[in-house]
Amino acid sequence: MKLAKLFLFPTLFIVCVVYSSANFRVFAQTLDNQSVTNIAERESGDRFTISAKTRKGANVYAVSTQPSPDMLGAIDKGLDDLFAIARKHDYNRRLKHSDYTIYIALSDRQKDSDGNYSPDIAISAGQYGGSIYDQGGYIYAAGMVIAFKPCAFIIAEHDKNWNRVSDVVRYEGEHLVLYHNDRRLYKETADHSKSGGHPILN
Ligand SMILES: [Zn+2]
Repeated sequence: MKLAKLFLFPTLFIVCVVYSSANFRVFAQTLDNQSVTNIAERESGDRFTISAKTRKGANVYAVSTQPSPDMLGAIDKGLDDLFAIARKHDYNRRLKHSDYTIYIALSDRQKDSDGNYSPDIAISAGQYGGSIYDQGGYIYAAGMVIAFKPCAFIIAEHDKNWNRVSDVVRYEGEHLVLYHNDRRLYKETADHSKSGGHPILN
């Protein structure tokens, strides 16, 4: 199954990180918005001064300019796709757009090593240190889960390829849906340096 998917989407290579997945008890507590923003700023190196909402009610923060309607629409679509697949698995918790907060960080690269458009953020390597993703103390990630309550993650700013934005949103969201609905599967899949990638749910 996994291999078939890889062949279908040969250029879709998305690296994602769950913040402090080894220490998740600390982050199981409910955080206020400022605390989540502090984590997002520390991990991305950006300052989030702009707040916005998608048409369906997801909370969005950006660095310096209002996110484009295309970007906001792609976020909504990613969440729509996530919720549809979650319902198929009888997961019911945290399936509202307003349950989610997305930080749009400035991308630290525009293209991957194969030259494909792939805006990603550089974050410290952590559990990926020494792995094939390690670029010398940091890795390029398409997204990073930073809080469970509220459900929050960082993605990189895009100016095209909206399908990729939707995919990254759906994939980061998978960790959050699993955390709230299927803790066993969450734990099995949170650390991609030990397990497979996305999609986790089909
Ligand atoms: Zn992931």
